[in-house]
Amino acid sequence: MRRDALRHRDGAKPPIGPVLDLYGVHYVPNHAGWQPILCPIHDESRPSCTVNLDDCYFTCHACPAHGDVWDLVMLKESCDFREAQQRVAAITGETAATTPAGAAISGPGYLPRYRRSGGGTHARTVR
Ligand SMILES: [Zn+2]
Repeated sequence: MRRDALRHRDGAKPPIGPVLDLYGVHYVPNHAGWQPILCPIHDESRPSCTVNLDDCYFTCHACPAHGDVWDLVMLKESCDFREAQQRVAAITGETAATTPAGAAISGPGYLPRYRRSGGGTHARTVR
């Protein structure tokens, strides 16, 4: 029944997919790792945002928007974390109360932002 189970890290993070659905963002549900999506925050016609369904994390390369499922809701709804938790819980059917606020960014997989650019973590290569 719970096909979202494998997207959870210790059950702590609700799936980001249903929230993307809510905002009309197209994504590939079974895609492993990062995939391009249209940024849910800024208006665009070509995807410059990426989402990782396993980590429940998104990051936009054209605007400052990035974060987890709650960050996405906070950015979209201009609400605070508590309200975002409630909204996410309502969207995904997860209970909101079990996750302390600090837990959202403490997982081991949460510094993925520059991982994709193989090499060049510091120096910018001039071509
Ligand atoms: Zn963006």
